[in-house]
Amino acid sequence: MKGNLKRSEALKLIRPGEIRVRIAPSPTGPLHIGTARTTLFNYLFAKKYKGSFILRIEDTDIGRSTKEFEEDIKQNLKWLGLEWDEGPYRQSERKEIYRKYIEKLLKEKSAYCCFCSKEELEEQRQYKMSIGEPPLYSGKCRNLTPAQIKKNLGQGKPFIIRFNNSQKTDGEKIIFNDLIRGKIEFNKTLLGDFAIAKSLDAPLYNLVVVIDDFKMKITHIIRGEDHISNTPKQILLQKVLKLPQPKYAHLPLILGPDKSKLSKRHNTVAVSKYRKDGYLPEALINFMVLLGWNPKDNREIFSLPSLIKEFTFEGIQKAGAIFNISKLDWINGFYIRQKSIKKLTELCLPYLIEKGLVEPIFKTEQYPPAYGGKIITPSYQISETRENINFENLEKIINLYQERLKKLSEIVELTDFFFRLKLNYPKELLRWKDMTDKEIKESLDKLTKVLGKIKEKNWTALNLEEILLKEVKAGRASKDRGYLLWPLRVALTGKKTSAGPFEIAEILGKEKTLKRIKEAINIII
Ligand code: GLU
Repeated sequence: MKGNLKRSEALKLIRPGEIRVRIAPSPTGPLHIGTARTTLFNYLFAKKYKGSFILRIEDTDIGRSTKEFEEDIKQNLKWLGLEWDEGPYRQSERKEIYRKYIEKLLKEKSAYCCFCSKEELEEQRQYKMSIGEPPLYSGKCRNLTPAQIKKNLGQGKPFIIRFNNSQKTDGEKIIFNDLIRGKIEFNKTLLGDFAIAKSLDAPLYNLVVVIDDFKMKITHIIRGEDHISNTPKQILLQKVLKLPQPKYAHLPLILGPDKSKLSKRHNTVAVSKYRKDGYLPEALINFMVLLGWNPKDNREIFSLPSLIKEFTFEGIQKAGAIFNISKLDWINGFYIRQKSIKKLTELCLPYLIEKGLVEPIFKTEQYPPAYGGKIITPSYQISETRENINFENLEKIINLYQERLKKLSEIVELTDFFFRLKLNYPKELLRWKDMTDKEIKESLDKLTKVLGKIKEKNWTALNLEEILLKEVKAGRASKDRGYLLWPLRVALTGKKTSAGPFEIAEILGKEKTLKRIKEAINIII
């Protein structure tokens, strides 16, 4: 393929340390999953070639940019492990630089002040469209005389600054070789006299990007495909300002399941929300890289270090990448299963604490200064019952669910019954198949009797299983263990589905187990 040849040729020329890439998020919202994916590709490319990855905060839209969003962007990039080597630079702190360029463009007549009113522009736009022409600016203010300009300015007429696209550049076409999409051509005249600033101190995106990318010596611009139409405008500005042209790589769009561009309508877009839901950063990284990039084989699990080695532009597809949340769940489940129980418990605890099921108690112990002064050891208590619960018991609970957990937040729904004083469930839940109330009560009575005899020291899942299965064989439930075990499981959990009753009973302990069976009997009679 011609495109491929070009891009591998281009990449061959790269020497380690030369690469400089950047992301330029606008702090007008929290870190978006699409921006995070763009960051990942930039990061991988920079790390692979031992280059630099730069963070530039594009806060030219003063009205909509906030410090909080900037913080969110930085925090979540760090959480994902995508740390920048330089920056953050803020465009709001670089106005002087942009102003010089605007003045230069105006002086050289590569830009001009346009005094047309909004209404006038809208009318022109409508007219152009009505005659089937692209709705470009007519160029009315392009040739105003210095005297006219002076007069307008004197009258305080509002204006914007436009790029003068009527000047000669080399050829009518803007052509560039996209590292992903191959050769891309734009007709220069179709770009019109686009706006580059609202005033000398308020430059607009296309201009600031060109200046910053030059000043920051950016070699490769890797960004979403939605910016493709901006690229020829930026190239034109580079030509006129005689700046070197960086290489471009436009990543495929992220699409919702209905194949339209991913938006809030489809899925959550804020990275912070995924984090809050209990997706692990390594899972999100793994998921995001597959939104547009594929290895040559059909592997699906990749860590950040392995991606740095394996990443290539050749692996990036041109077609839009469909955002499939069940794939993310699957990947997250995979990474959850790789965690040690200790680590997973630590990760799940904040969710249990936030929902008020468990509380940390901080005990401060004093030591002589030579031994390090004081240390704080957290221990835990169950909020509703005020009982202490040690970390090992919490680990046992989490262990029961490691296999089925898809995101950390699910731990609340799965394990809350361990921490409740009293369970709340409808009587019907105790019924296995066509059991009558009387039969349910008999089963629960039998459980009380059999379990009551087991000594505390023998209260292990293994023993309980052995003893109860013996009982199943001997008793009326012989053909179906559900007759005994279903009411037991529901009595202990109040849930339709859960981990097995023996493991749960072991963790609850003899006293609580018998208490819950008693409560179930009270429900059934
Ligand atoms: N602020 C733009 C964005 O977040 C930056 C585009 C670019 O990389 O040039 O999409």
